[in-house]
Amino acid sequence: MTDETVPALVADGTRPPATGRDVRCRIAPSPTGELHVGNARTALFSWLTARRSGGTFVLRVEDTDRERSTDEAIEILIRSLRWLGIDWDEGPEVGGPYGPYRQTEALDLFAGVTRRFLDEGRAYRCYCTPEELEDRRQEALSRGETPGYDGRCRNLSAAELAAFEREGRPFAVRFAMPGTDITVWDLIRGETTFPASDLRDFVIMRSNGIPTYLLAAAVDDVRMKMTHVIRGEDLMPSTPRQLEVMRALGAEPPAYAHLPLIVGPGGQKLSKRFHAVSVERFREEGFLPEALVNYMALLGWSRDAETTFLSREELIEAFDVTRVSRNPAVFDLAKLEWMNGHYIRESSGERLAAMLGEAFAADGVPADPALLMRAVPLVKERMKVVGEGPALLRFLFAGVEPDERAAKALEGQAGLLAEATAVLEGLPEGGWTASTIEEALRGLQERLGLKPKEAFQPIRAAVTGTTVSPPLFESIELLGREPTLARLRATATAGGA
Ligand code: GLU
Repeated sequence: MTDETVPALVADGTRPPATGRDVRCRIAPSPTGELHVGNARTALFSWLTARRSGGTFVLRVEDTDRERSTDEAIEILIRSLRWLGIDWDEGPEVGGPYGPYRQTEALDLFAGVTRRFLDEGRAYRCYCTPEELEDRRQEALSRGETPGYDGRCRNLSAAELAAFEREGRPFAVRFAMPGTDITVWDLIRGETTFPASDLRDFVIMRSNGIPTYLLAAAVDDVRMKMTHVIRGEDLMPSTPRQLEVMRALGAEPPAYAHLPLIVGPGGQKLSKRFHAVSVERFREEGFLPEALVNYMALLGWSRDAETTFLSREELIEAFDVTRVSRNPAVFDLAKLEWMNGHYIRESSGERLAAMLGEAFAADGVPADPALLMRAVPLVKERMKVVGEGPALLRFLFAGVEPDERAAKALEGQAGLLAEATAVLEGLPEGGWTASTIEEALRGLQERLGLKPKEAFQPIRAAVTGTTVSPPLFESIELLGREPTLARLRATATAGGA
């Protein structure tokens, strides 16, 4: 792809950002749990921007919140991104020229920057205790002022400083903001000006030597030579502060694109109460990665008014972060399921059989792969998620206990079931096919003067234990002659009476 096909992005309203191979995008997750679909969409948009230009995509792990970050979460994160097909050219497991890509491995570096800022007067030691800060916050609130750091430690006298030192008080390091309004230029949102009153001096280094997100991400975005920072809108308030940190480092800021939030159907925050919201859960439920990628790409972006289905290649070709909407994107689970159904129907039998096998294994039911392969056509059209498969096909791999509806359908049907047993006994093992079974059972239905449903629902209940199995004759064929007859006989004599 040539540079001309890449949209003319503008970083700060005056300077065009990098294009083509120079583009460097990143995803910088905090590994504190499973990968939220919102962060996955951010990763996708950033990845598409890098891939579209032939640039570089970087994974950086922001694990400075030591209490909440875990190695397990990093593993899940890596697994979820790989499963989505989002690959990185630099980052954990692959390395790269701007490591470390895990922030807890770069603590010396952040300490060095902090020392430099202190030496240059861009930052200062703050000895305020959490209690003091809270008291002053309350006071400000009661005076009707916007709370925020009041600059108390910015100009401590030499005597005050010495006193704190003697006391051995721990200190944090605060960045000294310029006290002016700051305008952020964003590829999606244009200009936003933050008033100076909202931009107080903020902590960059905690007393325990761990940098804050505000410092670490800004330093790393500079150090890793990011040209585009694509992230959620919730991080917008960080941007003017990080721009100042970058300025203090003497660095050119990247272009920013803040993505609109993803909300639930009622406009509320997308949380677990609404549905599974992590990529891991979607995978477990039997969503296909290409469906999730396609769906996430449409959360705030579209190629045109008509196109819904876009392959990975088409997305890379068409995606343009400057055309992302500013409005919140509503997560529509029904649409995702519908799209997933489409991708299921496009999938090969082998792939679906393997996924069904995993779903059965997760339920503790071993399923014969060859039989699963034969069963795929029965459910392919019916599943919105592969996780629905085991309920539909369980009768093939495990004994059946009629569910409530099936038990009702069996009531008083002993005669019918005995007749069905008899006609099916007439079919030899070698002639046990869906069409011979259909012929035999339709013959029985007509002979007994029953409507199809009246005749077939009890048979279905007896053979599959449910009233919602896949097509009956095919199901009976797959189950096989002996197991079918055994189930019919058992229900004819037991519950069917
Ligand atoms: N680590 C931050 C988060 O997971 C994102 C940082 C960024 O994109 O600047 O919310």
